[in-house]
Amino acid sequence: MVAPHADSSRRLEEIRTRIAQAAKRAGRSADSVRLVGVSKTVQADAIHPLLAAGLASFGENRVQEALGKWPPLCAAYPGTSLHLVGQLQSNKAEDAVGVFDTIHSVDRLSLVQALGKAVARLGRAPDCFLQARIADEPQKGGCAIAELPALLDAGRHYGLHIVGLMCVPPVGRNPAPYFALLADLARRLDLPRLSMGMTADFETAIELGATDIRIGTALFGTREQVV
Ligand SMILES: *Cc1c(COP(=O)(O)O)cnc(C)c1O
Repeated sequence: MVAPHADSSRRLEEIRTRIAQAAKRAGRSADSVRLVGVSKTVQADAIHPLLAAGLASFGENRVQEALGKWPPLCAAYPGTSLHLVGQLQSNKAEDAVGVFDTIHSVDRLSLVQALGKAVARLGRAPDCFLQARIADEPQKGGCAIAELPALLDAGRHYGLHIVGLMCVPPVGRNPAPYFALLADLARRLDLPRLSMGMTADFETAIELGATDIRIGTALFGTREQVV
């Protein structure tokens, strides 16, 4: 049998090349773009080759899955940083603060308060992105654009370390206007980082200023459909 993920380190090299080319087109340094490998639903044995190849940032969308999978991997590769890219329930805030170095999905006051409490209790403050509802898709999570300034103020008040804005543009539409809007919002709020761009659109995101791209499929192959 062929190991199903034997080629993931080759995929990593290809993605790094594409990142470098997109950064160059934008007159940016490739080092200004952090590649977050989204390993949700991927088993530990398929993650190992990427850790060994030097990928240092990984994203998960479920707190429980990260708690189950990552402690031994992080022990083996101590420089690894873990990113939460999925929606977070307030009752999981403390677990999330305990395990993640960056949380990309802070989108409401109740969550800001729960995270603030967890940060105070654990003495550990992950970097946080405010997730913006960049199109009118309430089911997707994200804070309404008009409410971002108030959420940022609240985040700072509750001791969160807010570094930037994050978005997931609507499926099937040209993502460029959404990325440009997010970049403009971050500029106005004086936030330095932009978490945007996935497998289908990361080069466009880089050209529009992404600092953190979240790539799953292009690294690990197509995921099993999860319900
Ligand atoms: C799954 C996921 C990704 C990765 O998506 P791909 O298209 O597989 O690269 C990025 N961001 C979020 C929020 C996700 O849930």
